Amino acid sequence: MAEAINPEVTEEESSGSKNFIENEIEKDLAEGKYSHVQTRFPPEPNGYLHIGHAKSIILNYGLACEYGGKFNLRFDDTNPTKEKTEFVKSITDDVKWLGADFEDRLFFASDYFDKMYECAVMLIKKGKAYVCDLSAEEIKEYRGTLKEPGKNSPYRDRSVEENLTLFENMKNGMYADGEKVLRAKIDMASPNINMRDPVIYRVARIAHHNTGDKWCIYPMYDFAHPIEDAIEHITHSICTLEFEDHRPLYDWVVRECEFAEPPRQIEFAKLYLTNVVTGKRYIKKLVEDGIVDGWDDPRLVTIAALRRRGFTPESIRNFVKLVGVSKADSSVDYAMLEYCIREDLKLKCNRISAILNPVKLVIDNYPEEEIEYLDVPNNQENPELGVRKVPFAKELYIEAEDFMEVPPHKYFRLFPGNEVRLMNAYFVKCTGCEKDENGNVTVVHATYDPETRGGNCETRKVKGTVQWVAAKTAVSAVVRLYENIVDEEKGKLNADGTLNLNPNSLTVVEDAKIEPSVKGAAKYDRFQFVRNGYFCVDAKDSTDDKLVFNRIVSLKSSFKI
Ligand code: ATP
Ligand code: MG
Repeated sequence: MAEAINPEVTEEESSGSKNFIENEIEKDLAEGKYSHVQTRFPPEPNGYLHIGHAKSIILNYGLACEYGGKFNLRFDDTNPTKEKTEFVKSITDDVKWLGADFEDRLFFASDYFDKMYECAVMLIKKGKAYVCDLSAEEIKEYRGTLKEPGKNSPYRDRSVEENLTLFENMKNGMYADGEKVLRAKIDMASPNINMRDPVIYRVARIAHHNTGDKWCIYPMYDFAHPIEDAIEHITHSICTLEFEDHRPLYDWVVRECEFAEPPRQIEFAKLYLTNVVTGKRYIKKLVEDGIVDGWDDPRLVTIAALRRRGFTPESIRNFVKLVGVSKADSSVDYAMLEYCIREDLKLKCNRISAILNPVKLVIDNYPEEEIEYLDVPNNQENPELGVRKVPFAKELYIEAEDFMEVPPHKYFRLFPGNEVRLMNAYFVKCTGCEKDENGNVTVVHATYDPETRGGNCETRKVKGTVQWVAAKTAVSAVVRLYENIVDEEKGKLNADGTLNLNPNSLTVVEDAKIEPSVKGAAKYDRFQFVRNGYFCVDAKDSTDDKLVFNRIVSLKSSFKI
């Protein structure tokens, strides 16, 4: 269910009251629990970041800024089976692009492996951890269920000395993967299953992207994460709701490892968006199956994809602010993200003419070779963007849909006998058309009134305004139009768990005709195509010879072309 969020909410209204995390932080500061605020974003480098992560980044960074604290980017790279350096680079780029300035505060959890090992030894010495020989299946069996308590492992009462020796042997590579694990000794009867002697170290003979072959034992997330936070003096460890049940274990680890100023975990609800695919697992599958053109395919909502599509960091920051922070899971309408990018680009972009489905319009009474240059404001709502010269000539392109030989009721565009305004140019009166053998219109004919230059006339009015580009000077470009990648109406998932893909998610217009002011446009340059929405020069496929544009968003809240 989409949460009802009113996108018309003003900035003042949305920032008027504090969210529950701010309230908690302020309480902690007032009570002297912490003297400062330190937050972090802790991604696992196992995929590209998506819009959900953007929320976490902006939230954590925003809190650090708000309370004059620091913000760390820390790679949670404790599981070498899935992690890659390719992702370290993409994630770093994305965080920077979003404007979350971590300065030189870039950290890797793997740099703390020594300290984590020391913590584990300390727990063993305190009688709070033991080496267990049960297999993964047996551990699961012994763990019990939500209704039944677990059973103690037969290895639970090993002596401290034996545990120290065995753990050292684990570190020294004397056991195969899965043969032995180190477990926290907490409570097998705890109502919280996470507290039933969780595994904190496992044997894994895999090289690590940072530490190479130094280690063949790796810490488990629930043990490593609180230690990482504590080492970095994080005060508020903000994470998503699925970790709520892990909080007692988090607290246990920082307490038993005797960190002086233990961090505090606070959970918030994940951001879900309608009509798109969030979740690394699904995105990865789309990439691997070749359904999309890489992790930055503009139909995805990875941050790389949003950037490539033409979203601005400002629009995403604004979106996150509008969505707010909550404790309850909900889905936000994709239309809200669209609203934010439209608002951001409205006054920033030149509004230019682009004809996606062109048909020729010939002005029969216009001089043959003449090209005249008309003054056109770059953005009617923002005079600061200035004025440009747009060429006008006898042969133009207009949208095919702007002419009809037999018009329906209330059609105010071109049809024989009707007069319209060519945007910013002249009044023209349609005189007829030419058709091919199949009856398709190939050329529309009209005559113009030289007295109406600029598209104004004192003596008569027209009901329709039609956009155009001069044929001789038009730039031919590829334009890509997008629809949502999953069919939300029928459900994102099919019965078998696969994604219910929308077959029309990408439409490529191979030969759009655009006014010459786009010549030389650089990658990421953005324009409003007057009638069709906001577009961005594709950073991967566009060349000087053939510009490629991605539609960022249409003008109206509709995915129809
Ligand atoms: P995914 O569920 O998409 O695979 P993840 O949680 O495995 O993502 P991590 O790299 O572990 O990805 O996440 C880094 C941080 O981003 C974590 O603190 C996590 O809670 C947060 N995060 C992940 N997804 C979302 C989301 N949809 N909304 C808000 N925060 C998120
Ligand atoms: Mg994860």
